[in-house]
Amino acid sequence: MNNRSVLTEILKIENLKKYYIKKKIFSSDSSIVKATDRISFSIKKGEVFVLAGESGSGKSTIAKLILKAIPADEGKIIFEDQEIDEQKKNLQKIRMNCQMIHQDPYDSINPRMKIKDIILEPLEIHNVGNKEERHRRLLEVLKEVKLEPVEEIMKKYPHMLSGGQRQRVVLARALALKPKIILADEPVSMLDVSIRAEMLELMKQLQEKYQISFIYITHDLATAKYFGQRIAILYLGKIVETGPINQVLESPKHPYTQALIDAISEPDPSNIHKIREIRIKESDTEKSVKGCRFKSRCPYAIEQCDIEPNLEEIENEHFAACHVELN
Ligand code: SF4
Repeated sequence: MNNRSVLTEILKIENLKKYYIKKKIFSSDSSIVKATDRISFSIKKGEVFVLAGESGSGKSTIAKLILKAIPADEGKIIFEDQEIDEQKKNLQKIRMNCQMIHQDPYDSINPRMKIKDIILEPLEIHNVGNKEERHRRLLEVLKEVKLEPVEEIMKKYPHMLSGGQRQRVVLARALALKPKIILADEPVSMLDVSIRAEMLELMKQLQEKYQISFIYITHDLATAKYFGQRIAILYLGKIVETGPINQVLESPKHPYTQALIDAISEPDPSNIHKIREIRIKESDTEKSVKGCRFKSRCPYAIEQCDIEPNLEEIENEHFAACHVELN
C-alpha cells in the first residue's frame, strides 16, 4: 500500500452541472453554454489535484460551484462525508474550510485596506478567537508566507508591495482560517517567471506541513507537473482524461491531452500553430456537440465518435474518454 492510498477523501464532487443560456445581441436567438457538464472527481486529504484546461474549459466555474458562489443546476458537493446544501451552517462550513486564491491578488484584497486588516478580515467575519488570538494568527501567517519583517509589512497597503508579495498576502489571508482545502486559480500566472517557482515552492511546503489539500487550477502543464499529484484535463466542460499526474502527462491517452503536451514540449516555433488549432474558440462553447466534443479537431476521429465516450479506466486509476486506444 503506498502513501497515497492511505489518504482519506476530503471532498467529493458528483455529477456537477452548470449550463448558461447565452443570449445573442440584437437577436432573439440564444444558445446553451455547458460550462460544467456532469463532472465528478474526489480529492484526498493533503493531496494536490490539478484541474487543467484552457480558458472556456470550465475549470473556474467548478471552483465557484464548490464554494457555492454560484448555484449548480444539478450535482452534489460532499465535504468530509457531508453534503453541502444551501443551509447556512453548511455554507459556513465550506466557506471556512475551503479558501480561494485568485490569479489577480486585487480580486481578493481591497487596495484601500492595510495588510493587517486584509488578513484579519476573514477571522473577524467568521468570529474566530478574541482580538489577541486573531492578532497572534496574523503574525503567524505572515511569517508562514515569509513576509518579513512582519511588523513593517502589516502596516503597508497592497500597492506598496511587489506582485509576488501581494500574492503571498493572498495566501496568508487564505491560511488565516486554517483551511483544509485551498482552491488556487492560476495563482502564479500573473507573476514574473523568476518568482513563480518561489510561490509554488512555498505552497508546496505549506501543503506538506499542514496536509492542506489543494485544487490547483491552471492551463500551464509545467507548473501542474511540479505541484500536482493527480490531474483532470477539461475540455468544454467535461473531464476527458484523469489520473496520476506523471502517468497522464508522460503517457496521455486522450488526443486533446496529447495535443496540449505536444504543443508545449517541442521547442519549435511552428507549435504556435498547433496551439491555435487545438485552442477552444468562443463558437465551440456555444455549439451543441453531438458525440465527442473534441471530434471536429481530432485527427483520430472515427464514425463511433458520434456517440459521446465515457471515462473508462485504462490502467491503474488512469481514465480517458475516447473511443480510440492511443499508444
Ligand atoms: Fe477523437 Fe473520437 Fe477519441 Fe473523441 S472519441 S477524442 S473524436 S478519437
